[in-house]
Amino acid sequence: MEFGQANGLPRAALKEVFGLQSPSDLGKPVDEFGSDDQITARVTKKMALASEHASKNWIKIPVKFGLWFVFLVMVFIVSRKRKMTNRLRFSLLFSSVMIFGVVMGPDPGPMGTVKDAIYLYATTHAIFPPRMIALMIFLISVFSANKYICAWGCQAGTLQDLIFRINRTGHQDVGIGKHIRLPFVLTNTVRVLVFVVFTVIAFVWGFDCIAPIDPFKIYKPMHLGLIGGVFVGILLFFSLFIYRPWCSLFCPFGLVGWLVEKVSRVRISVDYVTCVACGKCATACPSTVMEAILHGDKKTIPDCFACYTCRDVCPTESIRFSSRKRTEPPAGHFDKKKKTHSGM
Ligand code: SF4
Ligand code: SF4
Repeated sequence: MEFGQANGLPRAALKEVFGLQSPSDLGKPVDEFGSDDQITARVTKKMALASEHASKNWIKIPVKFGLWFVFLVMVFIVSRKRKMTNRLRFSLLFSSVMIFGVVMGPDPGPMGTVKDAIYLYATTHAIFPPRMIALMIFLISVFSANKYICAWGCQAGTLQDLIFRINRTGHQDVGIGKHIRLPFVLTNTVRVLVFVVFTVIAFVWGFDCIAPIDPFKIYKPMHLGLIGGVFVGILLFFSLFIYRPWCSLFCPFGLVGWLVEKVSRVRISVDYVTCVACGKCATACPSTVMEAILHGDKKTIPDCFACYTCRDVCPTESIRFSSRKRTEPPAGHFDKKKKTHSGM
């Protein structure tokens, strides 16, 4: 009982930490319950979970997930009818930024479910169940509908996407600056390294090295320090020219989601029977994904954000976002079609 008073632990917490069976157990010496290290670990874990619980807004979180569900279903319905005009795309991205970022704030967000879970476990060996449920929901959404949550729901992702689209008129690169497509092998190597370095630093030094540059904090700017402010400013500036730099270079959820995306049920695929090999989809794709798909590159397909840009520009409606299996282009498909076109 003295230990509880000295460490500010209420009786309920003491009961849980020490496994107390009866009120008389409150009088037992602390060392009867384990070594100093064991007791410290148990108390640290308990206090970390209590602090996580106290830091959450338990009304806002379910409301935000509900809004995500409604919004993403709405985007899905609109896009299935092939009504994704540039103006509509811009409005949807803008609405997503406003609802899930400006109004609902940075927390929760897909990235935090991975980053904060690793950091909490590294520093206290605690697992916060509500966060794991949120992570499962996000990963199930990737499993069932590709990176839809990143594409249209993530407050950091949609902000970068919106800025990127400002620099494009229509589907062409004729905005205020040239569009740069970084090779996937480079971006993914950096992303893996960031993930490894973050994890090692969290476990060895107990420091969250992503927190100071976390772009989600733009929705709570007072939490961004000078370094974070400068970093996020640069990041958003480069979003004009590079499609989603945070997602492709730094985001832990981006990396985990990319792995889950490999087994996603619904994804972009091309029907090579009707495809005329004009290459418009690869040119319009903001990333290098469509190029990789057209090359039948199975293992290194970059993140596809289900943005529908490729599908919107296809003149023969050969691109689908469906559960249809993605096939490789027939051998010589592009050479043959090119010859046919040049002969016409
Ligand atoms: S990859 Fe991008 S869109 Fe997805 S969670 Fe990370 S920041 Fe958000
Ligand atoms: S343009 Fe197509 S392939 Fe490229 S990211 Fe968007 S949906 Fe994916």
